Order: sequence, then structure tokens, then C-alpha cells
Amino acid sequence: MEVFGTQALIPEIGMFAVQKLPYHSCRRCGRCCTAKLIPLYEKDLERLGGFRSFYMPTNSLEREITGAAYKMMMVNSRCVFLDGTICKVYDMRPDTCRRHPFIVTRKRILVSAACPGVDWSRENNDLDYYRTLSSGISERLDRFIEARSRLSSRWTRLLAPGQRPQP
Ligand code: SF4
Ligand code: SF4
Repeated sequence: MEVFGTQALIPEIGMFAVQKLPYHSCRRCGRCCTAKLIPLYEKDLERLGGFRSFYMPTNSLEREITGAAYKMMMVNSRCVFLDGTICKVYDMRPDTCRRHPFIVTRKRILVSAACPGVDWSRENNDLDYYRTLSSGISERLDRFIEARSRLSSRWTRLLAPGQRPQP
């Protein structure tokens, strides 16, 4: 399988940063609804306003990465709206679920490393669609990835042979 345009895996979010958006055809495996952080934004909470007890507060790291104050509730690691492999609120599902397996931020194209529906052999022309659905997370995630890169290059510099403390 050719992973075109792959730059790097970002392990904290399990996504590849790539140059071009690949095609996607969902296999309805339900993997993205299981043991996942599904950040919820104002728009999502309004859309799902007819339901109760489906969300909970994010922790500080989750807030730092996603900018969301709330996330979807998981029961036994499964989204509360998941029935078998079917979403019970498909037409009202949050933007996070609509854009999966992609996040298109202002600066990056990110693709889930775990979704079996990604077709790396074809390019996807719906970049703007995914960018709009990623608007809630875009800015915070870019900031998080940049902070992470700065930290990792500092470590690389510190560990470079010339910089290592002499025994
Ligand atoms: S992980 Fe990918 S293929 Fe599986 S349900 Fe989610 S979007 Fe579809
Ligand atoms: S709302 Fe639906 S699509 Fe989103 S995680 Fe839950 S079951 Fe999956």
C-alpha cells in the first residue's frame, strides 16, 4: 500500500500529517466510535440538544488539544449512541464524526492511522468540506502540534553528539 505524501505520524492523536487528502469510503466497522475522544462543540451540543446524559467535561490535556469543553460519553469504551456498528443519531452526529478520518486544519492535512476505509491510492477533492468540519479543533490542534515539534527539536538538539555532557 502506497502512503502518498506522508510526512509524519503524530502519535498523540494517531494521525498522519500528509500533503494531499486521500479518498475515503467508510466500511462501517465502528472503530471510530469506540474508545475515542469525540470532542463536542457548541454546534454539536445544539444539534444533539434533544438528548440527555450523552456528554461529559474534557480533561485539561484534551481541552488543550481540541479546544472543546465537552466530549462524548463512552460506556464500556463505546459511544453512548453506538448500537452494534450503527450510529443511532447519524443525521445529528457531531462534526468530529462527520469529518472522520480526517482533520483539515488551517495548516495541515491529517489522516487517521487506524481507519480501514482510507484509500491511499486516490486523491480526495473535498478538502474544503473537511476544513469546515474541522473548524472547531483546527487552531488548538495546530498550536499543540507546533508546541510538540518545538519540544522535540529541543530534545534533538540537546541529545546531539556535540551537546551531550562529557563523562
Ligand atoms: S473507522 Fe473508518 S471505516 Fe471504520 S466506521 Fe470509522 S470512518 Fe468508517
Ligand atoms: S455519535 Fe455516532 S458516529 Fe459519532 S461516535 Fe457516536 S456512534 Fe459514532
